[in-house]
Amino acid sequence: MARLAQTAGLTDVQQEILSTVRDFVDKEIIPVATELEHRDEYPQQIVDGLRELGLFGLMIPEEYGGLGESLLTYALCVEEIARGWMSVSGIINTHFIVAYMLKQHGTQEQKDHFLPRMAAGDVRGAFSMSEPGLGSDVSAITSKAVRDGDEYVLTGQKMWLTNGGTSSLVAVLVRSDEGHPEGTAPHKSMTTFLVEKEPGFGEVRPGLTIPGKIDKMGYKGVDTTELIMDGLRVPADRVLGGVTGRGFYQMMDGVEVGRVNVAARGCGVAQRAFELGVRYAQQRHTFGRPIAQHQAIQFKLAEMATKVEAAHAMMVNAARKKDSGERNDLEAGMAKYLASEYCKEVVEDAFRIHGGYGFSKEYEIERLYREAPMLLIGEGTAEIQKMIIGRRLLEEYRFQG
Ligand SMILES: Cc1cc2nc3c(=O)[nH]c(=O)nc-3n(C[C@H](O)[C@H](O)[C@H](O)COP(=O)(O)OP(=O)(O)OC[C@H]3O[C@@H](n4cnc5c(N)ncnc54)[C@H](O)[C@@H]3O)c2cc1C
Repeated sequence: MARLAQTAGLTDVQQEILSTVRDFVDKEIIPVATELEHRDEYPQQIVDGLRELGLFGLMIPEEYGGLGESLLTYALCVEEIARGWMSVSGIINTHFIVAYMLKQHGTQEQKDHFLPRMAAGDVRGAFSMSEPGLGSDVSAITSKAVRDGDEYVLTGQKMWLTNGGTSSLVAVLVRSDEGHPEGTAPHKSMTTFLVEKEPGFGEVRPGLTIPGKIDKMGYKGVDTTELIMDGLRVPADRVLGGVTGRGFYQMMDGVEVGRVNVAARGCGVAQRAFELGVRYAQQRHTFGRPIAQHQAIQFKLAEMATKVEAAHAMMVNAARKKDSGERNDLEAGMAKYLASEYCKEVVEDAFRIHGGYGFSKEYEIERLYREAPMLLIGEGTAEIQKMIIGRRLLEEYRFQG
Protein backbone atom coordinates (compact mmCIF):
# COMPACT_ATOMS: atom_id res chain seq x y z
CA MET A 1 0.00 0.00 0.00
CA ALA A 2 1.21 3.52 -0.76
CA ARG A 3 1.80 5.62 2.35
CA LEU A 4 -0.92 8.07 3.17
CA ALA A 5 -0.40 11.79 2.57
CA GLN A 6 1.78 11.64 -0.52
CA THR A 7 2.50 14.94 -2.29
CA ALA A 8 2.63 15.04 -6.08
CA GLY A 9 5.00 17.29 -8.02
CA LEU A 10 7.86 17.63 -5.56
CA THR A 11 11.33 18.43 -6.90
CA ASP A 12 14.27 16.08 -6.35
CA VAL A 13 15.65 18.49 -3.74
CA GLN A 14 12.35 18.54 -1.83
CA GLN A 15 12.15 14.75 -1.91
CA GLU A 16 15.70 14.43 -0.64
CA ILE A 17 15.12 16.88 2.22
CA LEU A 18 11.92 15.08 3.22
CA SER A 19 13.43 11.64 3.14
CA THR A 20 16.35 12.86 5.31
CA VAL A 21 13.92 14.40 7.82
CA ARG A 22 11.69 11.29 7.82
CA ASP A 23 14.72 9.12 8.50
CA PHE A 24 15.79 11.43 11.34
CA VAL A 25 12.27 11.32 12.83
CA ASP A 26 12.10 7.51 12.70
CA LYS A 27 15.58 7.01 14.18
CA GLU A 28 16.12 9.97 16.52
CA ILE A 29 12.70 11.26 17.58
CA ILE A 30 10.07 8.49 17.77
CA PRO A 31 12.14 6.13 19.96
CA VAL A 32 12.69 8.78 22.69
CA ALA A 33 9.74 11.17 22.35
CA THR A 34 7.31 9.66 24.86
CA GLU A 35 9.93 9.19 27.58
CA LEU A 36 11.19 12.78 27.22
CA GLU A 37 7.63 14.08 27.12
CA HIS A 38 6.70 12.32 30.34
CA ARG A 39 9.72 13.94 32.00
CA ASP A 40 8.88 17.32 30.40
CA GLU A 41 12.50 17.38 29.27
CA TYR A 42 13.83 19.74 26.59
CA PRO A 43 15.02 17.56 23.67
CA GLN A 44 18.49 19.11 23.36
CA GLN A 45 19.99 16.23 21.38
CA ILE A 46 17.14 16.30 18.86
CA VAL A 47 17.43 20.08 18.51
CA ASP A 48 21.18 19.75 17.90
CA GLY A 49 20.44 17.18 15.20
CA LEU A 50 17.89 19.44 13.50
CA ARG A 51 20.41 22.24 13.60
CA GLU A 52 22.96 20.04 11.86
CA LEU A 53 20.39 19.23 9.18
CA GLY A 54 19.98 22.98 8.60
CA LEU A 55 16.32 23.02 9.56
CA PHE A 56 16.55 26.31 11.48
CA GLY A 57 17.45 28.00 8.19
CA LEU A 58 15.13 26.04 5.91
CA MET A 59 13.21 29.06 4.60
CA ILE A 60 15.88 31.71 5.19
CA PRO A 61 17.29 32.91 1.83
CA GLU A 62 20.62 31.43 0.73
CA GLU A 63 22.28 34.87 0.74
CA TYR A 64 21.86 34.81 4.55
CA GLY A 65 23.15 31.25 4.89
CA GLY A 66 19.80 29.43 4.82
CA LEU A 67 18.49 26.80 2.41
CA GLY A 68 16.05 29.22 0.74
CA GLU A 69 13.30 26.60 0.59
CA SER A 70 9.58 27.19 0.05
CA LEU A 71 6.73 27.22 2.57
CA LEU A 72 5.63 23.88 1.13
CA THR A 73 8.99 22.24 1.89
CA TYR A 74 8.88 23.72 5.36
CA ALA A 75 5.31 22.52 6.01
CA LEU A 76 6.08 19.00 4.79
CA CYS A 77 9.11 18.85 7.11
CA VAL A 78 6.92 20.04 10.00
CA GLU A 79 4.39 17.32 9.17
CA GLU A 80 7.14 14.69 9.40
CA ILE A 81 8.53 16.11 12.64
CA ALA A 82 5.09 16.34 14.29
CA ARG A 83 4.53 12.72 13.30
CA GLY A 84 7.48 12.02 15.61
CA TRP A 85 6.74 14.53 18.38
CA MET A 86 4.67 17.67 18.10
CA SER A 87 6.75 19.59 20.67
CA VAL A 88 9.78 19.46 18.39
CA SER A 89 7.84 21.16 15.61
CA GLY A 90 6.90 23.83 18.20
CA ILE A 91 10.58 24.50 18.84
CA ILE A 92 11.12 25.30 15.17
CA ASN A 93 7.85 27.09 14.51
CA THR A 94 8.27 30.35 16.44
CA HIS A 95 11.83 30.59 15.10
CA PHE A 96 10.50 30.19 11.59
CA ILE A 97 7.77 32.84 12.10
CA VAL A 98 10.27 35.41 13.42
CA ALA A 99 12.71 34.68 10.57
CA TYR A 100 9.85 35.01 8.08
CA MET A 101 8.76 38.36 9.59
CA LEU A 102 12.35 39.62 9.41
CA LYS A 103 12.70 38.50 5.80
CA GLN A 104 9.41 40.13 4.79
CA HIS A 105 9.43 43.28 6.92
CA GLY A 106 12.90 43.83 8.43
CA THR A 107 15.26 46.66 7.49
CA GLN A 108 18.41 45.64 5.60
CA GLU A 109 20.46 46.15 8.77
CA GLN A 110 18.06 43.92 10.76
CA LYS A 111 18.21 41.16 8.14
CA ASP A 112 22.02 41.31 8.00
CA HIS A 113 22.24 41.31 11.78
CA PHE A 114 19.83 38.46 12.59
CA LEU A 115 19.20 36.16 9.63
CA PRO A 116 22.66 34.55 9.23
CA ARG A 117 22.76 33.69 12.96
CA MET A 118 19.16 32.47 12.83
CA ALA A 119 19.95 30.28 9.81
CA ALA A 120 22.77 28.67 11.80
CA GLY A 121 20.46 28.19 14.80
CA ASP A 122 22.72 30.38 16.99
CA VAL A 123 19.93 32.92 17.51
CA ARG A 124 16.56 31.34 18.17
CA GLY A 125 13.27 33.15 17.84
CA ALA A 126 10.03 33.41 19.84
CA PHE A 127 7.06 35.64 19.13
CA SER A 128 4.75 37.30 21.59
CA MET A 129 1.31 38.74 21.01
CA SER A 130 -0.86 37.16 23.73
CA GLU A 131 -1.29 38.72 27.18
CA PRO A 132 -2.98 37.38 30.32
CA GLY A 133 -6.19 39.21 29.37
CA LEU A 134 -6.27 38.48 25.65
CA GLY A 135 -5.36 36.00 22.96
CA SER A 136 -7.93 36.11 20.15
CA ASP A 137 -8.57 39.85 20.50
CA VAL A 138 -5.10 41.12 19.61
CA SER A 139 -6.40 44.68 19.18
CA ALA A 140 -6.91 44.83 22.98
CA ILE A 141 -3.16 44.65 23.74
CA THR A 142 -2.20 46.84 26.70
CA SER A 143 1.62 46.46 26.82
CA LYS A 144 3.14 49.80 25.87
CA ALA A 145 6.20 51.39 24.33
CA VAL A 146 7.04 55.03 25.08
CA ARG A 147 9.79 56.85 23.17
CA ASP A 148 12.72 58.24 25.13
CA GLY A 149 15.40 59.74 22.85
CA ASP A 150 16.93 56.98 20.71
CA GLU A 151 15.20 54.29 22.72
CA TYR A 152 11.76 53.00 23.61
CA VAL A 153 10.76 52.01 27.12
CA LEU A 154 8.53 48.91 27.16
CA THR A 155 6.17 47.98 29.99
CA GLY A 156 3.59 45.20 30.29
CA GLN A 157 2.99 41.50 30.75
CA LYS A 158 2.92 38.91 27.99
CA MET A 159 1.61 35.35 28.17
CA TRP A 160 2.05 31.99 26.43
CA LEU A 161 5.43 32.46 24.74
CA THR A 162 6.42 29.20 23.08
CA ASN A 163 10.23 29.01 23.46
CA GLY A 164 10.10 32.00 25.82
CA GLY A 165 12.98 30.60 27.89
CA THR A 166 15.17 29.00 25.23
CA SER A 167 14.97 31.81 22.66
CA SER A 168 17.43 34.68 22.36
CA LEU A 169 15.27 36.93 20.14
CA VAL A 170 11.62 37.73 20.85
CA ALA A 171 9.37 39.63 18.43
CA VAL A 172 7.07 41.46 20.88
CA LEU A 173 3.88 43.26 19.85
CA VAL A 174 3.02 46.34 21.95
CA ARG A 175 0.99 49.50 21.68
CA SER A 176 3.04 52.57 20.70
CA ASP A 177 1.07 55.79 20.61
CA GLU A 178 3.95 57.89 19.31
CA GLY A 179 2.96 59.51 16.01
CA HIS A 180 -0.49 57.97 16.21
CA PRO A 181 -2.98 60.50 17.57
CA GLU A 182 -5.78 59.62 19.96
CA GLY A 183 -8.57 57.82 18.15
CA THR A 184 -6.20 55.94 15.78
CA ALA A 185 -7.59 52.42 15.14
CA PRO A 186 -5.95 50.01 17.64
CA HIS A 187 -4.33 47.90 14.92
CA LYS A 188 -2.64 51.00 13.47
CA SER A 189 -0.94 51.93 16.73
CA MET A 190 0.90 48.67 17.31
CA THR A 191 4.57 48.04 16.81
CA THR A 192 6.73 44.91 16.75
CA PHE A 193 9.99 45.18 18.69
CA LEU A 194 12.91 42.83 18.17
CA VAL A 195 14.04 42.14 21.71
CA GLU A 196 17.36 40.35 22.19
CA LYS A 197 17.93 38.53 25.46
CA GLU A 198 19.89 35.76 27.12
CA PRO A 199 18.23 32.32 27.04
CA GLY A 200 17.07 31.15 30.45
CA PHE A 201 14.76 32.21 33.26
CA GLY A 202 14.64 35.08 35.74
CA GLU A 203 15.89 38.57 34.79
CA VAL A 204 17.41 37.81 31.39
CA ARG A 205 18.09 41.45 30.56
CA PRO A 206 17.56 44.61 32.65
CA GLY A 207 13.80 45.24 32.69
CA LEU A 208 12.92 41.84 31.19
CA THR A 209 11.92 38.79 33.24
CA ILE A 210 10.94 35.29 32.09
CA PRO A 211 9.41 33.89 35.28
CA GLY A 212 9.51 30.13 34.52
CA LYS A 213 7.84 27.36 32.55
CA ILE A 214 4.05 27.07 32.50
CA ASP A 215 3.04 23.53 33.51
CA LYS A 216 0.92 22.19 30.62
CA MET A 217 -1.27 19.16 30.04
CA GLY A 218 0.63 18.26 26.85
CA TYR A 219 3.05 19.85 24.37
CA LYS A 220 5.70 19.23 26.99
CA GLY A 221 9.45 19.45 26.50
CA VAL A 222 9.12 22.76 24.69
CA ASP A 223 9.03 25.67 27.16
CA THR A 224 6.02 28.00 27.29
CA THR A 225 6.40 31.09 29.45
CA GLU A 226 5.23 34.51 30.51
CA LEU A 227 7.33 37.60 29.77
CA ILE A 228 7.37 40.67 32.00
CA MET A 229 8.64 44.03 30.78
CA ASP A 230 9.25 46.64 33.44
CA GLY A 231 11.08 49.63 31.97
CA LEU A 232 12.75 47.50 29.30
CA ARG A 233 14.85 49.82 27.10
CA VAL A 234 15.02 48.86 23.41
CA PRO A 235 16.94 50.92 20.82
CA ALA A 236 14.78 52.57 18.13
CA ASP A 237 16.59 50.59 15.42
CA ARG A 238 15.01 47.42 16.87
CA VAL A 239 11.53 48.44 15.68
CA LEU A 240 10.77 45.78 13.04
CA GLY A 241 10.98 47.50 9.65
CA GLY A 242 12.11 50.76 11.28
CA VAL A 243 8.64 52.34 11.38
CA THR A 244 6.11 52.21 14.23
CA GLY A 245 2.41 51.46 13.72
CA ARG A 246 2.89 48.43 11.43
CA GLY A 247 3.18 45.72 14.05
CA PHE A 248 -0.33 44.34 13.78
CA TYR A 249 0.01 43.70 10.04
CA GLN A 250 3.50 42.22 10.41
CA MET A 251 2.29 39.82 13.11
CA MET A 252 -0.80 38.81 11.12
CA ASP A 253 1.45 38.05 8.15
CA GLY A 254 3.61 35.87 10.41
CA VAL A 255 0.61 34.11 11.90
CA GLU A 256 -0.76 33.37 8.42
CA VAL A 257 2.28 31.25 7.54
CA GLY A 258 2.16 29.94 11.10
CA ARG A 259 -1.33 28.62 10.39
CA VAL A 260 -0.08 26.48 7.52
CA ASN A 261 2.50 25.17 9.93
CA VAL A 262 -0.15 24.31 12.57
CA ALA A 263 -2.18 22.56 9.87
CA ALA A 264 0.96 20.57 9.00
CA ARG A 265 1.36 19.61 12.64
CA GLY A 266 -2.24 18.40 12.73
CA CYS A 267 -1.52 16.28 9.65
CA GLY A 268 1.60 14.78 11.24
CA VAL A 269 -0.02 13.95 14.58
CA ALA A 270 -3.07 12.46 12.80
CA GLN A 271 -0.80 10.32 10.60
CA ARG A 272 0.99 8.95 13.62
CA ALA A 273 -2.33 8.23 15.35
CA PHE A 274 -3.48 6.35 12.25
CA GLU A 275 -0.22 4.35 12.14
CA LEU A 276 -0.63 3.38 15.80
CA GLY A 277 -4.32 2.54 15.36
CA VAL A 278 -3.92 0.41 12.25
CA ARG A 279 -1.04 -1.54 13.81
CA TYR A 280 -2.82 -2.19 17.10
CA ALA A 281 -6.03 -3.21 15.30
CA GLN A 282 -4.13 -6.07 13.64
CA GLN A 283 -2.42 -7.21 16.85
CA ARG A 284 -5.35 -7.22 19.25
CA HIS A 285 -7.77 -10.15 19.07
CA THR A 286 -11.34 -10.26 20.33
CA PHE A 287 -14.02 -12.86 19.67
CA GLY A 288 -11.51 -15.05 17.85
CA ARG A 289 -10.13 -12.58 15.32
CA PRO A 290 -8.02 -9.40 15.08
CA ILE A 291 -10.20 -6.40 15.87
CA ALA A 292 -9.26 -5.03 12.42
CA GLN A 293 -11.50 -7.78 11.05
CA HIS A 294 -14.56 -6.32 12.79
CA GLN A 295 -16.31 -4.02 10.40
CA ALA A 296 -16.84 -1.30 13.01
CA ILE A 297 -13.06 -1.02 13.48
CA GLN A 298 -12.42 -1.12 9.72
CA PHE A 299 -14.88 1.74 9.31
CA LYS A 300 -12.98 3.71 11.93
CA LEU A 301 -9.71 3.09 10.07
CA ALA A 302 -11.34 4.13 6.79
CA GLU A 303 -12.61 7.38 8.32
CA MET A 304 -9.26 8.10 9.95
CA ALA A 305 -7.30 7.57 6.72
CA THR A 306 -9.75 9.70 4.72
CA LYS A 307 -9.33 12.54 7.22
CA VAL A 308 -5.53 12.24 7.06
CA GLU A 309 -5.67 12.50 3.25
CA ALA A 310 -8.11 15.43 3.20
CA ALA A 311 -6.18 17.46 5.79
CA HIS A 312 -2.91 16.85 3.95
CA ALA A 313 -4.38 17.98 0.62
CA MET A 314 -5.73 21.22 2.14
CA MET A 315 -2.47 21.98 3.91
CA VAL A 316 -0.45 21.44 0.72
CA ASN A 317 -2.87 23.65 -1.22
CA ALA A 318 -2.55 26.49 1.32
CA ALA A 319 1.27 26.30 1.26
CA ARG A 320 1.41 26.24 -2.54
CA LYS A 321 -0.90 29.26 -2.76
CA LYS A 322 1.43 31.29 -0.53
CA ASP A 323 4.49 30.09 -2.46
CA SER A 324 2.90 31.30 -5.68
CA GLY A 325 2.83 34.82 -4.20
CA GLU A 326 -0.95 34.92 -3.79
CA ARG A 327 -2.91 35.83 -0.68
CA ASN A 328 -3.70 32.59 1.18
CA ASP A 329 -5.57 33.65 4.31
CA LEU A 330 -8.71 31.76 3.24
CA GLU A 331 -6.84 28.56 2.39
CA ALA A 332 -4.59 28.79 5.48
CA GLY A 333 -7.62 29.36 7.73
CA MET A 334 -9.51 26.43 6.19
CA ALA A 335 -6.47 24.14 6.35
CA LYS A 336 -5.75 25.03 9.97
CA TYR A 337 -9.37 24.60 10.98
CA LEU A 338 -9.90 21.29 9.20
CA ALA A 339 -6.53 19.74 10.05
CA SER A 340 -6.79 20.53 13.76
CA GLU A 341 -10.38 19.26 14.07
CA TYR A 342 -9.60 16.11 12.08
CA CYS A 343 -6.44 15.55 14.09
CA LYS A 344 -8.45 15.57 17.32
CA GLU A 345 -10.96 13.10 15.81
CA VAL A 346 -8.35 10.74 14.35
CA VAL A 347 -6.44 10.71 17.65
CA GLU A 348 -9.65 9.96 19.54
CA ASP A 349 -10.46 7.05 17.20
CA ALA A 350 -6.95 5.62 17.56
CA PHE A 351 -7.34 5.97 21.34
CA ARG A 352 -10.65 4.05 21.26
CA ILE A 353 -9.09 1.31 19.09
CA HIS A 354 -6.50 0.82 21.83
CA GLY A 355 -9.26 0.05 24.38
CA GLY A 356 -8.04 0.29 27.98
CA TYR A 357 -4.38 0.29 26.91
CA GLY A 358 -4.84 3.70 25.29
CA PHE A 359 -5.27 5.03 28.81
CA SER A 360 -1.90 3.69 29.88
CA LYS A 361 1.16 5.92 29.71
CA GLU A 362 3.02 2.97 28.22
CA TYR A 363 1.26 3.54 24.91
CA GLU A 364 2.19 6.42 22.61
CA ILE A 365 -1.44 7.26 21.87
CA GLU A 366 -1.82 8.58 25.45
CA ARG A 367 0.67 11.35 24.61
CA LEU A 368 -1.00 12.19 21.31
CA TYR A 369 -4.34 12.41 23.10
CA ARG A 370 -2.95 15.18 25.32
CA GLU A 371 -1.18 16.94 22.44
CA ALA A 372 -3.96 17.22 19.86
CA PRO A 373 -6.11 19.81 21.74
CA MET A 374 -3.31 22.41 21.59
CA LEU A 375 -3.82 22.58 17.81
CA LEU A 376 -7.43 23.69 18.35
CA ILE A 377 -6.14 26.79 20.18
CA GLY A 378 -2.68 27.86 18.89
CA GLU A 379 -2.39 30.41 16.02
CA GLY A 380 -6.08 31.25 16.42
CA THR A 381 -8.92 29.08 17.74
CA ALA A 382 -11.47 27.30 15.53
CA GLU A 383 -13.90 30.20 16.08
CA ILE A 384 -11.29 32.73 14.91
CA GLN A 385 -10.54 30.61 11.80
CA LYS A 386 -14.25 30.51 11.00
CA MET A 387 -14.45 34.30 11.38
CA ILE A 388 -11.57 34.70 8.90
CA ILE A 389 -13.06 32.15 6.49
CA GLY A 390 -16.54 33.69 6.74
CA ARG A 391 -15.30 37.25 6.14
CA ARG A 392 -13.28 36.20 3.08
CA LEU A 393 -16.19 34.22 1.65
CA LEU A 394 -18.43 37.27 1.89
CA GLU A 395 -15.75 39.32 0.08
CA GLU A 396 -15.49 36.73 -2.71
CA TYR A 397 -19.21 36.09 -3.05
CA ARG A 398 -20.47 39.67 -2.55
CA PHE A 399 -24.14 39.93 -3.55
CA GLN A 400 -24.45 42.64 -6.17
CA GLY A 401 -28.25 43.10 -5.94
C1 LIG B 1 0.62 25.94 24.52
C2 LIG B 1 0.34 27.30 23.97
C3 LIG B 1 1.34 27.98 23.29
C4 LIG B 1 1.09 29.28 22.82
N1 LIG B 1 2.12 29.97 22.20
C5 LIG B 1 1.94 31.28 21.90
C6 LIG B 1 3.03 32.07 21.39
O1 LIG B 1 4.12 31.56 21.14
N2 LIG B 1 2.84 33.40 21.21
C7 LIG B 1 1.64 34.00 21.45
O2 LIG B 1 1.53 35.22 21.24
N3 LIG B 1 0.58 33.27 21.89
C8 LIG B 1 0.69 31.93 22.12
N4 LIG B 1 -0.36 31.18 22.61
C9 LIG B 1 -1.63 31.85 22.87
C10 LIG B 1 -2.71 31.47 21.89
O3 LIG B 1 -2.46 32.10 20.66
C11 LIG B 1 -4.05 31.89 22.52
O4 LIG B 1 -4.28 31.03 23.63
C12 LIG B 1 -5.17 31.78 21.53
O5 LIG B 1 -5.05 32.78 20.54
C13 LIG B 1 -6.54 31.97 22.23
O6 LIG B 1 -6.55 33.07 23.06
P1 LIG B 1 -7.07 32.95 24.58
O7 LIG B 1 -6.42 31.77 25.19
O8 LIG B 1 -6.88 34.27 25.24
O9 LIG B 1 -8.61 32.66 24.44
P2 LIG B 1 -9.76 33.79 24.28
O10 LIG B 1 -9.40 34.73 23.20
O11 LIG B 1 -10.07 34.35 25.62
O12 LIG B 1 -10.98 32.88 23.79
C14 LIG B 1 -11.71 32.03 24.70
C15 LIG B 1 -12.81 31.31 23.89
O13 LIG B 1 -13.68 32.27 23.30
C16 LIG B 1 -13.73 32.08 21.88
N5 LIG B 1 -13.85 33.41 21.25
C17 LIG B 1 -13.07 34.51 21.41
N6 LIG B 1 -13.52 35.53 20.66
C18 LIG B 1 -14.61 35.08 19.98
C19 LIG B 1 -15.50 35.65 19.03
N7 LIG B 1 -15.36 36.89 18.59
N8 LIG B 1 -16.52 34.87 18.55
C20 LIG B 1 -16.68 33.59 18.97
N9 LIG B 1 -15.85 32.99 19.87
C21 LIG B 1 -14.83 33.72 20.35
C22 LIG B 1 -12.40 31.43 21.52
O14 LIG B 1 -12.50 30.73 20.28
C23 LIG B 1 -12.22 30.50 22.72
O15 LIG B 1 -13.02 29.35 22.53
C24 LIG B 1 -0.17 29.88 23.02
C25 LIG B 1 -1.17 29.16 23.67
C26 LIG B 1 -0.94 27.88 24.15
C27 LIG B 1 -2.02 27.15 24.89
